Amino acid sequence: MKEIVLCKYGEIALKGLNKSAFESMMTKSIKYRLKSLGDINIYRSQSTLYAEPLDEDIDVDEIVERLSKVFGIVKLCRACVLEKDMQQILSQGPEYLADELEAAKTFKVEAKRSDKRFALKSPEICTEMGGAILDKFPHLKVDVHDPDVTVMVEIREEKAFVHAGQIDGAGGLPVGSSGRAMLLLSGGIDSPVAGYMIARRGAKISAIHFEAPPYTSDRARMKVEKLAKIISGYCGEIEFYCVPFTKIQELLRDNCPEEFFTILMRRLMMEIAQRICEREGIQALVTGESLGQVASQTMYAMVCTDAACRMPVFRPCVGLDKSEIVQIARRIDTFDTSILPYEDCCTVFTPKHPKTKPKLSEVERAQNSFDWEPYISEAVGNTSVQYIRNF
Ligand code: ATP
Ligand code: MG
Repeated sequence: MKEIVLCKYGEIALKGLNKSAFESMMTKSIKYRLKSLGDINIYRSQSTLYAEPLDEDIDVDEIVERLSKVFGIVKLCRACVLEKDMQQILSQGPEYLADELEAAKTFKVEAKRSDKRFALKSPEICTEMGGAILDKFPHLKVDVHDPDVTVMVEIREEKAFVHAGQIDGAGGLPVGSSGRAMLLLSGGIDSPVAGYMIARRGAKISAIHFEAPPYTSDRARMKVEKLAKIISGYCGEIEFYCVPFTKIQELLRDNCPEEFFTILMRRLMMEIAQRICEREGIQALVTGESLGQVASQTMYAMVCTDAACRMPVFRPCVGLDKSEIVQIARRIDTFDTSILPYEDCCTVFTPKHPKTKPKLSEVERAQNSFDWEPYISEAVGNTSVQYIRNF
């Protein structure tokens, strides 16, 4: 039976005059996401986006899986496409939903008729469809309040669709509708979640990772690339920058008071990230920091880090508890990769007693006692870039 996937969007529908710009951005990212699956017609009508496979071999499960990760889609459902002919709807509709209906104890039918010329009105469609379902599945009972299955019959302009309700989409705004941001991506739990959260609000994400070989291993970098790949399933293709950071870390260890090591390292990371952002036209930085989680994430430390920044630093996890961040990481499927036990450059040479209340003037004095410029330029110059995607 011919199937189609319907996508409904939420917030975009409220965008007034900008609505069509948002819609075309979303259509573009959907086309891009589905391209490798084959010939699929994407079109929109009445605040719904349709993905219609034009070839019988196309895997509709995979379409649903990919679309469930596209930001901007609030609900989606998989429906069979029928002629606007009641006989066909009554015979093929229940057959299409046989698996769901066999497993259920109770059901109800809802009908929506956007073609007002259709001979039957919605309540009549419900009554007839309810009867046809009970004939085929006599074990079922009707329950209009809390049914196991809600059968939807939609009579649209061209065709009729029958489906068994909607699943939740990823929500948010289409990627690219809110500018570009650079995610500082470590191998931990928090930064992939932070990237996901900002991308969900429409930012196009690039990622930057600092590595310190031989203190950090290839496996550690591969883990971070894998995290980028998982989040690219939501954010679209990610430009992934990898910065060689060993020399700067060794110089920090040898030339700066130990208690300032972490905060200076973070300020230098920010400086390098910003230079790449300025070169690439990226407007903001994103980190996975959460207020008070560790010594470098106190308010005092954040003030010292931000003083080294010329662009906004977004910290979407700032007000979340660790358990809440973990919950999101599990949902978006980054958690199991994040907890693999590989080293991060941040944990190389960490001082035993980092300052939790660093003073900006002291931090700046410590930083200015050494000429970092040649090493910053060298690190930027030796930064590699690759494109990571998951579809
Ligand atoms: P995460 O779980 O994201 O690793 P964390 O709780 O371990 O965070 P820190 O190690 O203090 O915290 O790092 C704070 C933030 O700094 C991270 O969320 C990330 O945005 C950034 N960061 C840390 N290490 C790196 C790195 N090696 N490369 C790029 N960004 C990093
Ligand atoms: Mg970390």
